[in-house]
Amino acid sequence: MLSQPQILQWLQAYATEIEQNKTYLTELDAAIGDADHGINMDRGFKKVSILLPTLTDKDISNILKTVSMTLISSIGGASGPLYGTWFLRASTAVVDKQELTEQDVLGLLQAGLDGVLQRGKAQLGDKTMVDVLSPAIVAFEQAVGESKGTLEAMQQAVAKAQKGLQETIPMQAKKGRASYLGERSIGHQDPGGTSAYLMLKSLLEVLESSQTTNH
Ligand code: ADP
Ligand code: MG
Repeated sequence: MLSQPQILQWLQAYATEIEQNKTYLTELDAAIGDADHGINMDRGFKKVSILLPTLTDKDISNILKTVSMTLISSIGGASGPLYGTWFLRASTAVVDKQELTEQDVLGLLQAGLDGVLQRGKAQLGDKTMVDVLSPAIVAFEQAVGESKGTLEAMQQAVAKAQKGLQETIPMQAKKGRASYLGERSIGHQDPGGTSAYLMLKSLLEVLESSQTTNH
């Protein structure tokens, strides 16, 4: 289960994670892009962070939709529209739900990825956030199929996300600015994959901390 307060906690945790990793994300983008990924993400999620206290009485879908609009309007580059699309599609997957079962979370993650795939047209192996999000969902779905709860499914998803992120290093970029470098993009970790990993890791941390406080 994932509740509305946990969704708000997750977004705050992710905003904090982005702030703490702003320089790291920008350095990763400096190697194979234009050195703005951390700056882009931090600009968007600072705005989200300011809005969060005004969203406490909104349902999960509306919260995610507000995040989407905020990201689209404040982040430039490729990542603004892509994360904006992720959150928009995630929001439409959970309309009118007050809390999310593990099936709902699976649907949310899948809808977000589908949006990114439609918008960005990246395939697995193109060295993008897709290489992190996609294996995470496969792991989450498998865990749900084995009747695991949201926490355990997310633990497995984050483990695969981390593996997927490592696997972006030897890939040659086929989408986005990094693709302009051709073979010189090989040997570097994908910045957008890194921020996508942090997004899932923040959600896991919220689930883990709720578990501790419930016992
Ligand atoms: P820009 O490349 O416009 O400067 P950012 O630096 O903020 O934008 O984001 C770069 C990240 O966006 C990449 O590391 C990659 O993960 C992701 N990305 C770029 N193009 C695509 C795409 N077509 N599909 C999915 N993700 C993409
Ligand atoms: Mg960039």
